[in-house]
Amino acid sequence: MKCPFCGSDNTRVIDSRPADDNTSIRRRRVCDDCNKRFTTYEKVETIPLIVIKKDNTREQYDRNKVVGGIIRACHKRPVSIDQINKLADEVEAAIFTGEGKEVESTMIGQLVMDKLSELDPVAYVRFASVYREFKDVDTFMNELAKMLKDEKK
Ligand SMILES: [Zn+2]
Repeated sequence: MKCPFCGSDNTRVIDSRPADDNTSIRRRRVCDDCNKRFTTYEKVETIPLIVIKKDNTREQYDRNKVVGGIIRACHKRPVSIDQINKLADEVEAAIFTGEGKEVESTMIGQLVMDKLSELDPVAYVRFASVYREFKDVDTFMNELAKMLKDEKK
């Protein structure tokens, strides 16, 4: 991103947050050459973000994959599509912060899990079981027991 004051390419993001229209990210940038600050509004889909998968291969970030995974986990659960979209917005707000050009898929999964656990316990367990690829029943039961204990607090 070029500095609008001096034209330098030497700029970096100091703050990122979702814009009011929810389809773009408002970014504060600072120019390291002239030290001036400016704000840009960038469409999420135009910000290049590469996801590093568990097998170390990389692919372009795709919101549909995130939303699809949440929808599957929320099948027949009392969670609305608005809540699912809001959850995806929050996850995106977190992963699109900074200049971050790459993000690990495990980080996205963790963010989704954290937010799902607040939204719906069953959806959370479903998502976690797919996501963490529970190797055996014990791991799964441990996770479930941990969650139920948390709920009783
Ligand atoms: Zn400048």
